[in-house]
Amino acid sequence: MRPTMVAGNWKMNGLSADAVHLTQAILSAGLEQLRPEVVLFPPFTLLHAVSQEAKGTALRWGGQNLFWEANGAYTGEISGAMLRDMGCRYVLIGHSERRQIFAESDDLVAHKVKAALTSGLIPVVCVGESAAEREQGTTEQVLQRQVEAILPLLNRESNQPNLIIAYEPIWAIGTGLSASPEQAQTVHAFIRNLIAGYSSQLAKKIILLYGGSVKGNNAAALFNQDDIDGALVGGASLIAGEFIQICRAA
Ligand code: PGA
Repeated sequence: MRPTMVAGNWKMNGLSADAVHLTQAILSAGLEQLRPEVVLFPPFTLLHAVSQEAKGTALRWGGQNLFWEANGAYTGEISGAMLRDMGCRYVLIGHSERRQIFAESDDLVAHKVKAALTSGLIPVVCVGESAAEREQGTTEQVLQRQVEAILPLLNRESNQPNLIIAYEPIWAIGTGLSASPEQAQTVHAFIRNLIAGYSSQLAKKIILLYGGSVKGNNAAALFNQDDIDGALVGGASLIAGEFIQICRAA
């Protein structure tokens, strides 16, 4: 059985007091006894607060983005080394909001994945089609392009995958309109199959998260699908009770 993971993407939300409160609430739910790895992705400014609360526990944290150079004249950017310095184990890369609002291309995403791996971080790479692409019937084409951009970075020398993929249909993000478990499963199986073409060993072990309006009341049905190994949760990760419910469903 593959390990499961529930990750909370706080996006650009929260101040220090919120981070302390939310992290403490999650820790007090006794999630250590549960199987999923629980990971928080706060804004950079809250990494310190989260790490202070979570260090020494089973809770993990990561950055929402990174730049590919280790340091230098890149005003406003954060490197993998800096994230490691904050105790991060993971980093989100290629979230659809970054692809859309900040015009991040597949090439740029691959560049960032490479930098994350070099820094010793585990990239959680987001892929997903828009509503228009789904309507046009190009979902598989879009996903194939996005996944193939990062496939060469999967380390075939190791039998443990060095990255995680999150399938997040853009039409499901923040809309309250989650993909149905069957729709999500179809895409997850497609992605796993693409990876199997590269390495059947890694395809069996890679963690594929689903993201897009995951809530306490739809998480269990999604997690019941064969190829869904966990969730990347946005809005619901800001509400302790809701997020804990999702973790318990995993
Ligand atoms: P949502 O966001 O759960 O609010 O739909 C998911 C995400 O963007 O990672």
